[in-house]
Amino acid sequence: MAKGLVIARIRGVPLKLHWTFLLVVGLIAAAVIFVSGSLVMGLYAVGLILLLFFFVLVHELAHVAVARRFGIPTKEITLLPIGGISHMERIPEAPDQEAKISIAGPLVNVGFALLLAPFVFHFHGGWSAFVSLHLLDLTEPSLFLDLFWLNVIMGAFNLLPAFPLDGGRVLRALLALKMSYVKATKVAADTGKTFAILFGLIGLFVNFWLLIIAVFVYLGAAGEERAATAQAVFRKAQVRDVMHRDFVMVRPDEPIEAIVERSFQTRQMDFPVVRSGRLLGFLDRGQLTSAAGQGGLMVEDVMRRDIPQVTPEDDLSVAFRRLQGGSVKALIVVSDDREEVESIGASAEMLTDSGREGRDIPKDEEGRRLVGILAVEDMERAYLYITQRESIGAETRVGSPMQMFGGRKRRVPKAGAARVARGHSRDEREVWVPVMEEPER
Ligand SMILES: [Zn+2]
Repeated sequence: MAKGLVIARIRGVPLKLHWTFLLVVGLIAAAVIFVSGSLVMGLYAVGLILLLFFFVLVHELAHVAVARRFGIPTKEITLLPIGGISHMERIPEAPDQEAKISIAGPLVNVGFALLLAPFVFHFHGGWSAFVSLHLLDLTEPSLFLDLFWLNVIMGAFNLLPAFPLDGGRVLRALLALKMSYVKATKVAADTGKTFAILFGLIGLFVNFWLLIIAVFVYLGAAGEERAATAQAVFRKAQVRDVMHRDFVMVRPDEPIEAIVERSFQTRQMDFPVVRSGRLLGFLDRGQLTSAAGQGGLMVEDVMRRDIPQVTPEDDLSVAFRRLQGGSVKALIVVSDDREEVESIGASAEMLTDSGREGRDIPKDEEGRRLVGILAVEDMERAYLYITQRESIGAETRVGSPMQMFGGRKRRVPKAGAARVARGHSRDEREVWVPVMEEPER
């Protein structure tokens, strides 16, 4: 996700330093030297920033460690100038787990502050140091005092109920005890956005830093809300409900031109590649279109061998996560369930002769049979139907998950599907739908 330099791996989790970090260190050192007129103070400021990032790192590692205890791996940790981000594989929906993961970070800062407190007391003038708010004084280095306040501020700031800050996540977890997860996310996100606007206003007049944080919080809140709505919507249906059962397969030794032609005839854009009853690869629309321009290529020259898969019993949220990365626009559906495979037997007859070996349905390496294809267009239709049927996401104005695929706005009938069917309502509302007709290059 975030661009950055991998500076370490902690138990296999890459630790990335965002490039703006180096820029900020340089700028702050220059500013401090300019204002204080002292090189020593400039070096002191840089040292302080490095220590600050150490605290941010330990804060993030606390989240990661607790998440790991709940079986949630972390993809990467990114250190930004405004703090850290731990990218978890998923966000736990058990409210107590999310609360524990979230609170762990600020607790680290509280712990550091408590550890530093005796030193502050000893070196910086007793009790009065704690009320002096003598922070980052540019006339003289006061190490323990500065470190103490950095931790107090970091802990307190993260505990604000401004989703997606830690405090906001705790708020969502508490709300989720009383209401649905989507509703709880919506309330927490609205609170987060309110805080963001507040930060922005204060930041405009007082502190530029706060303005950057405001944007970060606002976008984060909107993004989390979309993701939570998408997950809730897509959990309402299974892959088998929307996958294509009649699809065309291609052979590895076919020329790309032939497949392009077949794509127009069948309106299919992503093809499983099979030979002798074996699933060998996957030719998706991106590879097809870029290969079509080059001429003379065969399917096997461009097909992907890591086949993106789901099973019919997976719910659509699983498929959504796989498609979200954006590198593929369709998934192959495989199954070892006998009934599922037999249900495909009938429609397998409808396949074109390309790649079909009698009624033998191709297997993948693990012996599971190819039973369907699920493309982003199917997800789009499913999303529209489910939001209508369940009226989930109706109150979500920030757009839908589809922006993540690169979607567009579309007018759809408002309110419940039943009313629309009876023709009582012509009202429409705008929703984001997942449109991914443009192949990614
Ligand atoms: Zn945190």
